[in-house]
Amino acid sequence: MTAASPAPAAADSPLLEVAGLSVHHGQLQALRDVSLAVPAGHVHAMIGANGAGKSTLLRTIAGLHLPTVGSVRLAGQDITGLRPERRVAAGIALVPEGRRLFASLTVEENLQVGATSRRKGQWTLEAIYDLFGWMRDRRHQRAEHLSGGEQQAVAIGRALAANPRVLLLDELSLGLAPVVVSRIYAMLPELAASGMTILLVEQDVSQALAVASQVHCLLEGRITLAGSPATLTGTQIEAAYFGVGAGSNGSGLHAGGPAAAGSPEVDQPPGVRT
Ligand code: ATP
Repeated sequence: MTAASPAPAAADSPLLEVAGLSVHHGQLQALRDVSLAVPAGHVHAMIGANGAGKSTLLRTIAGLHLPTVGSVRLAGQDITGLRPERRVAAGIALVPEGRRLFASLTVEENLQVGATSRRKGQWTLEAIYDLFGWMRDRRHQRAEHLSGGEQQAVAIGRALAANPRVLLLDELSLGLAPVVVSRIYAMLPELAASGMTILLVEQDVSQALAVASQVHCLLEGRITLAGSPATLTGTQIEAAYFGVGAGSNGSGLHAGGPAAAGSPEVDQPPGVRT
C-alpha cells in the first residue's frame, strides 16, 4: 500500500471533513453522528466537559480509533480506514493529551520521532528551533528534565516535524501555568496564517473562543452547538456545554469577549471569566 497523497484542497472546500461519525469504546458510545468541516488555514475548537468525547474525536481523525459509522476526509479523499502512520504521511499530526513524549529521549530525538513519516515542507528541525527560541540550546537534554510548558512545546514541535496540513491539538493547557498557556496559544494564528489547519480540543473555553474562528461544543458525544465565537452568546455556550436547561439562568456569559456576569456559585464552563 502506498502512502496517501491527497490532492490540494480547493480554496472554498474544507480540508478536513468529518461526516456522521459514531465511535464506540466497547459497549460505550463515545461519539454520536458527529460532523464538522474545517477549511484550510482555519482554527476550529472543540469544547466540552470531561468525558464529552473530545479526545475520542481527535484520536479518530488521527486513526487511533476506528469509527463504527461515518467518514473522515482529507482534501476530499476518504481516509477513514487509513492506518495512523499513513495519516501522518498524508498530513495529519496529533499533539496528544498529556504530551506523551519519550521521557528518556532527548528533545532532538523526540523531534526526530515526529519526522519519521514527514512530508516535505518548511518544518525542519532548524525551523522548529527558530520557533521555540530556547530549544536549540537544550536539544540534547532529556525530555523528562523539561518543565511542563517546555514539554508541551516539544510535543508541538514533534507534530510540526511531520509537516502536517492538519494539526490536532488535545488540551494544550492541561497542567500548565496561564502565562505558559498564553504563550503557546499566541503561536497558533501564525501557524494558521502559514496555511496550517488546526482543530483543537480545549476545556478552557475562553482560550478556545479567543483563538478559533469556529467553536463546536460536544456533550455526551453529540455536537450541541457550532458557530463563530463572535455570534455565540455565553448563555448558548453554557446551555450547550452542560445540556439544555442546565446553567441557562440568564447569567449572561458573553462569548468572545470579557465575560460577564454570573454569580460565582453558578456552574460555568471552565475558563470563562466572570
Ligand atoms: P477529557 O476531557 O476527560 O479527556 P473527553 O471529552 O476528551 O474527556 P474522551 O476521552 O473522548 O472525552 O472520552 C469519552 C468517553 O469515552 C468517556 O466516557 C471515556 O471514559 C470513554 N473512553 C475514552 N477512551 C476510552 C477507551 N480507550 N476505552 C474505554 N472507554 C473510553
